[in-house]
Amino acid sequence: MDHLRGEADATVREGGLGDFKRQRGRTADEITRRLVRAIFEHRLPPGMRITEEKLSRTFGVSRTLARQATSQLCEMGVFVKKPNYSCTVAHPSREDAQALIDARRMVEPELIRQIVRSASASDLRLLDEHLALEQEARLTGDRSQLIRLTGEFHLKLAELARNPYLASFMMRLQVLTCLAILVHADGETGCPRDEHADIAQKIRSRDAEGAVQQMLTHLQHIELELRLEEVRPSHQPEDTFRWLAGDIGAG
Ligand SMILES: [Zn+2]
Repeated sequence: MDHLRGEADATVREGGLGDFKRQRGRTADEITRRLVRAIFEHRLPPGMRITEEKLSRTFGVSRTLARQATSQLCEMGVFVKKPNYSCTVAHPSREDAQALIDARRMVEPELIRQIVRSASASDLRLLDEHLALEQEARLTGDRSQLIRLTGEFHLKLAELARNPYLASFMMRLQVLTCLAILVHADGETGCPRDEHADIAQKIRSRDAEGAVQQMLTHLQHIELELRLEEVRPSHQPEDTFRWLAGDIGAG
């Protein structure tokens, strides 16, 4: 559990991993954070196969270390273990995506109530600094940065609530939501424009229930983008191969 907690803290604190060059002496936690950042920036697509061998070559580390990093991500449910020392990036089903949004509806309002109760002036400044980074990425048209930063806004809230268990849980929910967006939404989208600023404004004016309402509206918009009501083929990689083999669907 410690690595998840450390990961949530460090990813927010360091703005991902900043400058990251291949070098000896990397830890499994650093590699895990780098992989999480890749997912936040939509660089690791759902269902992608990843082998220990490939990771150890990419990061210039031993296979043992690569295995430790993939095990951490498997524990989070972000990677799915496969035979032959490989895993795939999770590919959340429609049911998974609905469960993620439902869990976020339970957790994020409480995070907000906690922040409104306890946020210091410097906490509010941190929130404003994060919003400024989002705005800058929007203005410069840096989509990868923007998608990551909008995801990290929610982790920032979890960090400000100062509950490490909730912070690591939010990290898991947020990474998997990112993957669900890639599977189910029409475009590679971040959070809807300006809604984070509305939430922050209510927090700043210590209007807990107003901020909760803004968050619930925001989560509803994310849910709508996921188009979970529509009946569409699931495109699970396993289903494709089962269909090719004639195990499912019409002959
Ligand atoms: Zn958001």
